[in-house]
Amino acid sequence: MEHLTGQTPATRSHLGPFDITIGIVGHPTTPDVAWSDKQLQVLKDIGLNTLQLSIAWSWRPAGEVLNLENLDDPALAGEWRRRAGQAERFGFRALAHFGLPMGPQTDATTCIMDPQVRDNYARRLSRFMHDFPSVNDVLIYTYDQLAWLCSEFGDCPRCHGVPLHERLTPFLEAMVDAICAVRPAARLWWEPWELSAGQTYAVTERIRPNHFGLICHSTIAEVQFVNTTDLWFRNLARLAHMRGIPMIGEGFFGGSGEDVAPLTHLPCPRLVHQQLNALHHAPGVVGIKEYYGFVPDHLSVNLRLLSGYLHAPDAPFDELAGLAAEPYGAAVHEQLLQAWELASQAIEFFPWDASWALRRIFELGPHVPYQSIPTASWMTPAWQSNRRGFYLVTDRNQQHPWLLEDVALRARLASSRFADSARLLQEASAKTVLPEDVQRQADQVHAAAQTSLALAEGLFRQIGHG
Ligand SMILES: [Zn+2]
Repeated sequence: MEHLTGQTPATRSHLGPFDITIGIVGHPTTPDVAWSDKQLQVLKDIGLNTLQLSIAWSWRPAGEVLNLENLDDPALAGEWRRRAGQAERFGFRALAHFGLPMGPQTDATTCIMDPQVRDNYARRLSRFMHDFPSVNDVLIYTYDQLAWLCSEFGDCPRCHGVPLHERLTPFLEAMVDAICAVRPAARLWWEPWELSAGQTYAVTERIRPNHFGLICHSTIAEVQFVNTTDLWFRNLARLAHMRGIPMIGEGFFGGSGEDVAPLTHLPCPRLVHQQLNALHHAPGVVGIKEYYGFVPDHLSVNLRLLSGYLHAPDAPFDELAGLAAEPYGAAVHEQLLQAWELASQAIEFFPWDASWALRRIFELGPHVPYQSIPTASWMTPAWQSNRRGFYLVTDRNQQHPWLLEDVALRARLASSRFADSARLLQEASAKTVLPEDVQRQADQVHAAAQTSLALAEGLFRQIGHG
């Protein structure tokens, strides 16, 4: 990318499709993963060139850093210094991720139009860049991650009547200036999470592009294994590219994700491939970021596929899947490929778009209590606009029996594919050279089959079809 000349990571480890490939050590389901040499070497070998310094999830799994304020704790700051040193030693770039301005989800309590708030975060970011000289870049969220913004329709005397994109643009530019004052080559990455499509386009059209970049979910709604890119993502990437702003796309590339958690070994390499391909072919995208995290000790078939893709992005999927199957032994090669394809289809048939609240449904096991589709919505621009066009159910609870039937039919179809996959995996576990790995896949796919069936049966009963 011409606009990255002179700033392309020197640590790029291969000639893959992306300039920047960001990993996370551990994930919210398995957060307590040491930044050991062994773990980092696995991530290096996969082909990643950048590590985020903490999981940075809203409920702070393992008590890790989420906001700049957390670094006031000497123990957390010390651990970050150690991690930054580890990243540097292994030749990774280091990315710091913060939500700011930090505050409760109440209107007009933390205000980016308040000069004191802006100065406080500019000072904190400058100090951070000074205190952590080996950290290359900073990513900030301005919504969620304990950060919230005043609504122009609320009662903040500074923000009332001023559109969000007009307030955010100078605030973000001030944060860029704060990090570049200390480190002139640094880049501030911004995740426009919770903004409407129109607001993200408006900020991208008007912001000063130098030393600024975007990191985005693969859709305006969420990252999911089944999602590739949507029109919003492609529009924003193209618009950013025209303005000389690099953009990084997020996906689930390991064995777990926020949708399928707490499962950590759901084998769906084709879905990993689809996400990577879509991001690769979106004009303006310079990198990828794992959105949930990796547990290197759980080297899954999905991670093997990611590694294969980063090293040979133009190889056909069948070839990459075949390579991912090799370590399991020739006796189970075809069986595993079939099982993984069935599991991929099952995840695709599952009705993820019914409600945001269906993510993490596999936590419920075979006891799904839903008599209707659970609602989920928040008072943010994206939830009040674009996400209503993505989920069947948000905050309105008018659920026609045909809607419940649609979800039940799809959940039952998913369940039958999961069950077929689990049977193949169970058979393969007796013949493979990696029995523990395949048994774990079989158990997790079986669990997904049970939960999907329970969801379907409950809804069928509710509408009198069961
Ligand atoms: Zn305000």
